[in-house]
Amino acid sequence: MSFSSSASASDLAADQSLRAPLPVLGRDVTVPLVTGGEVTYAALDYAASAPALQRVWDDVAAYAPYYGSVHRGAGYLSQLSTDLFENARNTVAEFLDCRGDDQVVFTRSTTDSLNLLAAALPTDCQVFVFETEHHASLLPWRDAHVTYLNAPRTPAEAVATVERALAGRDPHGPALVCVTGASNVTGELWPVRELAAAAHAHGARIVLDAAQLAPHHPVSVRELGVDWVAFSGHKLYAPFGSGVLAGRADWLTEADPYLAGGGASRKVSRRTDGGVDVEWHVSEARHEAGSPNVIGAYSIASACKALTEAGFDALVAREQYLIDTVRAGLAEVPQVRVLSLFGDDAPRVGVLSFVVDGWNSSHFAAALSAEYGIGVRDGLFCAHPLVRTLLGSDPEAQGECGAPEAAPGEKSLNAIRVSFGAGT
Ligand code: PLP
Repeated sequence: MSFSSSASASDLAADQSLRAPLPVLGRDVTVPLVTGGEVTYAALDYAASAPALQRVWDDVAAYAPYYGSVHRGAGYLSQLSTDLFENARNTVAEFLDCRGDDQVVFTRSTTDSLNLLAAALPTDCQVFVFETEHHASLLPWRDAHVTYLNAPRTPAEAVATVERALAGRDPHGPALVCVTGASNVTGELWPVRELAAAAHAHGARIVLDAAQLAPHHPVSVRELGVDWVAFSGHKLYAPFGSGVLAGRADWLTEADPYLAGGGASRKVSRRTDGGVDVEWHVSEARHEAGSPNVIGAYSIASACKALTEAGFDALVAREQYLIDTVRAGLAEVPQVRVLSLFGDDAPRVGVLSFVVDGWNSSHFAAALSAEYGIGVRDGLFCAHPLVRTLLGSDPEAQGECGAPEAAPGEKSLNAIRVSFGAGT
């Protein structure tokens, strides 16, 4: 079957060939059950980390004989590796539909990318961030002047909140809005295009946390109008350890290097007074000091190519089918409450969280794994303020693993998350 969008969503979803071949988790790992016997494990935790595509492992294996240090050597393998590394940058730029003068910096993860951007902000920059963000986009701004925005209950309210906040700021200084594209808790899509327009109308810039969006939807920097985008390789079907920050070059080039060291420096000389003068690169290398994670960059590019070639239509259709099926099943259980900020009809990716009345979510998740071979996530998902808002729980209450059992009728202190991807 081809990856055409003309087939119906349920045809596409039912077609097993649309499942990406995954070498380990999600397809063929057999696990023992505490109740006896064995089952094929169902890994439903793609929002945490998606297993790497077979294609990515194959590409990495094909690259292995050409392993060499980049940007450093005149040797053939070194030159080849440098080409592969720089081509990976171009592939990511194409995948994100970047503007011609955007930079693509390879980092360790989304967290790393957003910390890099935070370190590169002009000193007087004001940052506006919703309290609902993942900690990776909520916390890196602590040295800047940060305004935490209350959780909106509709996408329109999100835009109005940003407009109001920006209208009240000093219009002359630099400002940055940080927003997630898809929530790692509810899976709900945020109105990124509208938020970008609002930010720009008030002279601010915007960074998109696409950690959960990029694996499920095409992300076009140009169409969305965002200034930067960050995502992680390990959520995009590449192995752990690599990420991307892509976008406007100016603030990145004006800032001190994120890390000081070889690779970031173009020229280093001793001064006559005994000190050292450094000329830093103005390209991406400025923020990539040290020997870069070439395999990481190469695998991200491989995953980008695989997703681009396959197209997102079939993937989205299958995830939608799975999420609708799970929601319909959960709706039949009166003790279950699905968590949502924007309401039942909000468009969402294949991520869903819920609580079961009277159950500690950690115990529930452990039972799903031990008794049924189903792997989900439990806790507050590194988005404590959001989950507490959704649960209506006391901010002081302890809600990660080890939370006390909620009695029937009591509020849960943590939640269970199910998430889908190419192998489910
Ligand atoms: N942003 C969102 C929305 C996430 O879901 C995550 C991870 O779960 C991150 C950022 C951080 O990603 P990483 O742990 O790869 O840095």
